[in-house]
Amino acid sequence: MRFGVVGHPVSHSRSPAMHMAGFRYLGIDGSYEFIDTQNDGFPDVVASLRNGSLDGVNVTMPHKRTAFAAADVTGAVVDRLEAVNTLVVREGALSGFNTDIDGVQYALSRLELPPDTPVHVLGAGGAAAAAIVAVGNARPVSISARSQLRAGQLREQLKASAAIVPWGSGAEGMIVINATPMGMHGEHLPPGVVQSAVGLIDMAYGDAVTSSIRTAVSLGIPYADGLVMLAGQAAEAFHIFTGAQIPAEVMEAAARVG
Ligand code: NDP
Repeated sequence: MRFGVVGHPVSHSRSPAMHMAGFRYLGIDGSYEFIDTQNDGFPDVVASLRNGSLDGVNVTMPHKRTAFAAADVTGAVVDRLEAVNTLVVREGALSGFNTDIDGVQYALSRLELPPDTPVHVLGAGGAAAAAIVAVGNARPVSISARSQLRAGQLREQLKASAAIVPWGSGAEGMIVINATPMGMHGEHLPPGVVQSAVGLIDMAYGDAVTSSIRTAVSLGIPYADGLVMLAGQAAEAFHIFTGAQIPAEVMEAAARVG
């Protein structure tokens, strides 16, 4: 079985490490490679999936919307997101999935907070969309983005009933989901946002612990970092690829090694 992650750049991706750990865990003989390509190379990837020389791919920046457009079959949830991060061919049809949703749900479960705890999403891009769809109607949601226009457009696209609040608003009694890149390079979220929260999911991750996670640790706020979410999405993608379910902790341990 031959899989890969398609993106540009992609050499930083931890997907190969996670999926190879999955193969080892199950004793499966599989390969997983980096596929670094720009937009003009994406049709070749699709051709490889259709002719069976590739069994499945994960899709990362900047190709998630291209992958959505390329898929023959998607579900209603993916259609709301207009973004695909996992592609396989099933019964001759190129099928697109978005396992970032599963990643958010896994990260939420790791916080062990009441299932109706409200969520405060920072950002209005693709990751924020996945977070809002993952929460669904199970909890109240607010969106806080530096562009209220973009926040409104996202709410409209998703047909979500989220409140839109100013950037920097407090998150009293809420779980903050940072769906911006802030923190990857040492940036801080607006003051007081994490401090006021009852839980934190920080999707941003890099080589160092983000300042938001440091704040959560110091205040004893339950948190899940970006690698927890990454592991949750990878475990679901592995399930789509192989039909096998493996603990997300196996993926997480591999992601932390890098
Ligand atoms: P997008 O570019 O689609 O969206 C980014 C969002 O963050 C936009 O709303 C953007 O605002 C906002 N933003 C960017 N910089 C700032 C800033 N300095 N201050 C305030 N807002 C800012 O990216 P994605 O949604 O795809 O990804 C967001 C982050 O989530 C990335 O770091 C990505 O790596 C991470 N991610 C992690 C995953 C995981 O599994 N851990 C999965 C998916 C994503 P504007 O529109 O105004 O530019």
